[in-house]
Formats: sequence, structure tokens, C-alpha cells
Amino acid sequence: MSDGATDRATSMRTGLCGHLGPADVDRRVALCGWVARRREHGEHLAFLDLRDHSGIVQCVVDGRLEVRSEDVVRVEGVVRRRPEGTLNPRLATGEVEIHDCTLEVLAAAETPPVPIEERVEADEALRFRYRYLDLRRTKMQANLRLRATVNAALRRAMERNGFCEIETPLLWSPTPEGAREFAVPSRLHHGSFYVLPQSPQLAKQLLMVAGFDRYYQIARCMRDEDTRADRTLEFTQLDLEASFVGQDDVLAVVSEAVADASEAVTGSRPGDITRISWADALDRFGTDKPDMRFAMELVDLSASFEDTSLRAFSAPCVKALVLAGGGSLGRGRIDALVDRARALGSPGLAWFKVVSGPDGLAFESPLAAHLAEDERAGVLAGTEAREGDLVLAVAADHDLACKVLGSLRVHLGAPAVGEGEHRYVWVVDFPMFEGLDDAGNPAAAHHPFTMPHPEDLEHLESDPLSVRSQSYDLVLNGWELGSGSVRIHRADIQRRVFDALGLSPEDAQARFGFLLDAFRYGAPPHAGFAIGLDRLVAIFAGEESIREVIAFPKTQSGADLMTGAPKALSEAALSELGLVRAPAKK
Ligand code: ASP
Repeated sequence: MSDGATDRATSMRTGLCGHLGPADVDRRVALCGWVARRREHGEHLAFLDLRDHSGIVQCVVDGRLEVRSEDVVRVEGVVRRRPEGTLNPRLATGEVEIHDCTLEVLAAAETPPVPIEERVEADEALRFRYRYLDLRRTKMQANLRLRATVNAALRRAMERNGFCEIETPLLWSPTPEGAREFAVPSRLHHGSFYVLPQSPQLAKQLLMVAGFDRYYQIARCMRDEDTRADRTLEFTQLDLEASFVGQDDVLAVVSEAVADASEAVTGSRPGDITRISWADALDRFGTDKPDMRFAMELVDLSASFEDTSLRAFSAPCVKALVLAGGGSLGRGRIDALVDRARALGSPGLAWFKVVSGPDGLAFESPLAAHLAEDERAGVLAGTEAREGDLVLAVAADHDLACKVLGSLRVHLGAPAVGEGEHRYVWVVDFPMFEGLDDAGNPAAAHHPFTMPHPEDLEHLESDPLSVRSQSYDLVLNGWELGSGSVRIHRADIQRRVFDALGLSPEDAQARFGFLLDAFRYGAPPHAGFAIGLDRLVAIFAGEESIREVIAFPKTQSGADLMTGAPKALSEAALSELGLVRAPAKK
């Protein structure tokens, strides 16, 4: 294993197991670790594979010794070259073994309830329950060490750019990210609660008012939301904020930091990060998190179907994508694509296999006979499809057509997580508001402290849904890594945004009064960003689930199988907190 572990002698050992090689032959060593495997060799000899975090080395010991797998032992012996024919090229230390061993059992182990072997993937519930054993596996060691490498690279980038690390409270007050919050009852103030922060958003803005100029923190954030593969109740962000900067400055610093992280992990630096507007991302890739590792861009065929007589194509917008070589797909697979499109809300999915006909390219499709000649030509010209390709088209309103095809594009074309290069992209110019909330007010797409785009400010009252914001997302290989924005630092603009959101001055004061008060005493223009570290590391590690890069994760239902949390509190503990148990629901 390439472990990044440094050999350092301690009072108990001379160095690490995984680094021994021919250069150490005849050296007397003391090693400590776990017995990974024991094999008997004749009557009086046994081979022990001794494992520490750097790797494994074979020790030849007295077969009468009582020592079992996962016992913690200390071995003293001499490094010898392995006899010819017994070299193990699969092991980093495979040219040597330890002889003349004296062995001390430092702690005996029971048979582990989960295999520590790499090849056996145990049941997830068992892995989580005995996470400390699961973490002994090479893959999990590598994942968490990769995470530390990424953290260290990000910290270095922040420090180099003059950011100051400041910790912010965990016992806090509601923050504006809009997710459900965890509440912590106060023992000293019965009936009152702290809220665990969804992010350090307001704290970092206050640090800007306080004049810190550049802040960062590797921060834990808590959201009491339903969890999924890419979401857990608590997660970690590299959080940052800076004063007297604009969007370009934030993008530059974050781009540098993630390029450093990529380089620390892969050894090579990703190229310049391209920028795409939210509207273009939707139009070309059907999503605000475009995976740029592959093309398959959506094309607009609306013009070709403007005067169509085909009902299936009478829609405000016709979009299409080409699956190169997809003409070989059987009917079953195509039907499954149609079902998938319908499940995404599409009225249907038209498909055309491109074949050669008597007069050039022709279509094989249930719709082929109904297409007008100029429509067929329009599809071919617009998509540049070639013989053997499959054209998929959706006719619907623009955003729906884009989203359906965007999802099919990823389904059909995306490489596996972590495969290929790291392709970052900045998505900028998000809409300020996202639909309407229950009361009919526009809902903030990022958070209510995001500065509207200067060109759109004048439409804030007349046409709020057309207003863009100065917010930006960083996307890596089709995953949203993080977001940020230029913040509102002027009271008049903040008031107008709260008005647009339907937040009365009293409500705003009650929720965010401390921030609004602070802004009355001189708030610098400021902007910031937060990168989701769990997702970043998962992509680097090629893991689908962020739980594979979290030391002690909770399950999908929020349970910690190792500690048993969440747990019921005793009546005494409840009463100390001023809480009474609600009667059980009938
Ligand atoms: N606090 C935001 C979030 O957690 C990020 C930011 O705007 O800096 O998404």
C-alpha cells in the first residue's frame, strides 16, 4: 500500500512493517501490529503476516506459540531475504521475511465479527456496527488517509492565500440554508433551544463585519433532513469568506484550492476550470451540475418542428441527443428508456435509429413514416447523427425537455464515479429565486443574503423570477461540490430581497436580527463559498457513497449502529432538561 506513513522509531518499535525490503537484510527490527494471517508450516514453524497501517510483512515464528488472527503483538527479529522460489511479488515486502523471532502478545483478540479481508465485502450493517474493525481494511485506511491528504492540501492553499482559520459555535441559532434543523434543549433555560448550524454562514459574515478579511474553517454542518447516498445528517465543508472581493476573486481562490487537492491526490494538476452560466448548463447538458467528462450535448430541434403536423412534436420545444452507436440497442432497452423518460415527467420519448436508406441516411422508428422530409433532414442536420447512431428526442416545455434528456445523457454516457480525469466546472448566474413557496412568494434559490445580479436588480419587484443572483456552484464530474455567493452588505437591498421573499421586517429581525444589527455598523462588501469535503473525497476515492470516506457514518435512517444513537433519555435526564415525554401516539 502506498501509505504516506513515515517510519519513526518509538520506544516499542524500530519502524513500520510495510516498508521493509532488501536494503534492510540482516537488520534487527522490532515491529508492532496485528496478526493478519497465520499459516502452519510443518510441526514447529508458523508464518505470521504482521500488519500495521503501512502494510504487511511475513514473520517466521515458533509454531507452538499461542497467537491468533487480530492479536496485537510485538515481534523482534532479523530481516532475511526469502529463499528462492518463495518471493511474493504481490506484497511490497515480498522479498524479505523476519527470522529468529521473539514474540510478545500485547493484547489477545477474539474472532472478529466482520472479516478484515479486502476481498470479502461484509454486510453494511455489520461494517457500521464494528466500524473500528472495518476501518482496519486497506481500502478504508486508504480512503481516510486520502481525506487527510485533501484536507491538508486545502488548508495549505487557504493559508497561502492569507485566510485565517477561525472556529465558530456549534450551539447556535437558526441559519438560513433552509433545511430542517437539529435543536438542543438548554438545561439552564428550560423551554429554550440551541440550533446546530446548517453551516457557519451567519458567523462567517459576522467575522467579515469584525474585520477579519479572510476566514476559513473545516466546518461540521448539521441538517436534520432525510438522508441519501450523497447526504448525511452531519457533513463537512471547507467554508470560507472574504471581504473586498467579487465573484472572480472567490472563484480564483477556490479553483486554486481544489486544483491543489486534485494534484495532491493524482500527482497532476487539472486544467483551467471553465465557467458556464446556469442557463447554458441547462440548455446544453440538461442540468445545473453538468458532467464534463463526456460530450453528448443536447441540441435544439424546435426550428425543424415549428410547423409540424405530428402531435408528438407539437410542443414549445424539441430537444434531442445522440447516442453514438446506439442504433444497435434492442427494443427492450429502448422501451426502458421511454419508461425512464416518462418517470421523469416527460410526455414521451421519440427515438430514431439512423440507417442507410436508398437516398442517404434514413430513420428506423415508429415515427419514421410520419416525419416530413424537411423534418427528417432537420433532425439529421441538427444532431449530426451518423449511421448506426440513436437519436432521442423530447418535445415539451424547454426546462422539462432539457431535464429529461439531461438525465438520460448521464444514464447513457457518464463514466463511473472517479473514472477519468477530474473535470471541474463553475456554474454561474443562478436564478435568484426558485419557484414559489406555499404562500406564493418566490423562494430563495441559495439563501436570502445572496446579492442579486447588478443588471437585474431593477426587476426585483416587477419580475423577481427573472432575476439572476451572484451565486455560483462548483461541479466535479457531475456532482455539485459546493456553492457560494456574493453577499448583500447594503441594508436597502437586503430589505428589498426580504420583501420579495415575503419576509416582514419583524420576521427578519426575529430570525436574523443579530446579523442585520451588525450590518448597521459598517459591513464590508464580502463573498464566500463552501466545498463539501465528503463528496470531494468520495469522488477522488472512486466511491459512490460518501459513507465510505467518513470514519463513523450513520445509516440511511440516521442511526449510529456502533453507539446505538439516537437513544432514549432517562426520565431524570429529561426532567433536568425541562422536557416531558409526549404520550405515545395511538
Ligand atoms: N453556507 C452556504 C452553504 O452551506 C455556502 C456559502 O454560501 O458560503 O451552502
